[in-house]
Amino acid sequence: MYDPKSPKAGEFISHEEVLQTLAYAEENKNNIPLIDEILEKARTKKGLSHREAAVLLDCDIPEKNEEIFRLAKQIKRELYGNRIVMFAPLYLSNYCINGCVYCPYHLKNKNITRKKMTREEVQREVVALQDMGHKRLAIEAGEDPKNNPIEYILDCIDAIYQVKHKNGAIRRVNVNIAATTVEDYRRLKDAGIGTYILFQETYHKDSYEKLHPTGPKHDYAWHTEAMDRAMEGGIDDVGLGVLFGLELYRYEFAALLMHGEHLEAAYGVGPHTISVPRIRPADDVDPGTFDNGIDDDIFAKLVACIRLSVPYTGMIVSTRESKECREKVLDLGISQISGASKTSVGGYCEPEKEEENSEQFDTSDKRTLDEIVHWLMGMGHIPSFCTACYREGRTGDRFMSLAKSGQIQNCCHPNALITLKEYLEDYASPETKKRGEEMIRSQLVNIPRLKTREKVEAYLDEIVEGERDFRF
Ligand code: SF4
Ligand code: SF4
Repeated sequence: MYDPKSPKAGEFISHEEVLQTLAYAEENKNNIPLIDEILEKARTKKGLSHREAAVLLDCDIPEKNEEIFRLAKQIKRELYGNRIVMFAPLYLSNYCINGCVYCPYHLKNKNITRKKMTREEVQREVVALQDMGHKRLAIEAGEDPKNNPIEYILDCIDAIYQVKHKNGAIRRVNVNIAATTVEDYRRLKDAGIGTYILFQETYHKDSYEKLHPTGPKHDYAWHTEAMDRAMEGGIDDVGLGVLFGLELYRYEFAALLMHGEHLEAAYGVGPHTISVPRIRPADDVDPGTFDNGIDDDIFAKLVACIRLSVPYTGMIVSTRESKECREKVLDLGISQISGASKTSVGGYCEPEKEEENSEQFDTSDKRTLDEIVHWLMGMGHIPSFCTACYREGRTGDRFMSLAKSGQIQNCCHPNALITLKEYLEDYASPETKKRGEEMIRSQLVNIPRLKTREKVEAYLDEIVEGERDFRF
């Protein structure tokens, strides 16, 4: 039985409810009065139910689709302005006891070199990341209680926060590790993590079990209820995601929104972020063996429909996607992107040797961070290195209430300018610095309150003098 408040995976992601939602969407995909009604609701920025959103996703009336894209762009602008938050993944260890058939780290893959960084190696990677200008990381590790126990992850987090190299600092560590216990989540919370991210991969239980034939991840309920345990352990910023290409995207879309509705119903806090990865080639993984791949147009429609459905949830796109694809979806609702990512263990310090093969997936966008910052500004986006919220205690429902009232903008925009200024002073190439200074000048006027603007101007001067880490 479908029950969004239930703690049981089979009830908050009810297979029957997903199927009924898909049937409802199919029935109504040409129902113009209903589509108009849903679009009207989306315009109020209060979000959509999974059933309403599924109708929009299925709609193939060109004028209505244009309206969906227009509205997604408008909501993105109104709620997120023109800033894009930057982050980088950091792979700690590729030891893994799971059997995920779409990931080269699966236990049976003997082609790849297994690596696990020591504390010193982690710190060397962090120095390399700081030297690029990164302030926000997402750490990644396979599941392996012997090689990567929670103590190892906690030690790495501590190692990362300890590194203070020149003007650099990693100010927020988000964590993407396997589903674990309430107690472990509590320890992660105490270690000062930002968001806990866990991709569901697929919400379709039968497919899930086939795609995860062995290891602890095989347990669908354990994995799907992970966010509930994270919330219980005190982590109130959680990030959802599915790996598009494994199952039918319509199914994943409806279930993903149901997961968000469950978190809202059960804990009063929806997901902090949603990631939209698509399957990519990697060692021992050929995306062609999964016949549910989605093209760029459907991908863009998914992004737009997620934006309308959960306006206050940040949306993340990684370097899995090409420059062209990222360009297309940035306006439609993406609020965070990774830059200059290495998806191998230790890849920031030492380029991967051909025979090592320890990348989790092949990246499409291989540009440097400076190139990405330059490119973003050329399109009118402000690259932001802001990490202020979690450091100011603005997490969970506190964050959501500020986001829903629109007040968060009073922090995001000034913080974007201040952190961009830090980047320009410390890491940018001369061309990027020039473009960035122009951008900051032109964007200062978009700070509505005179007092805040004056404060930002003072901070900008102090950053030139060598001071760092101002925030609102
Ligand atoms: Fe291990 Fe994660 Fe890869 Fe699965 S997806 S094999 S759990 S690293
Ligand atoms: Fe994100 Fe908060 Fe910074 Fe805005 S102020 S960019 S919500 S961390």
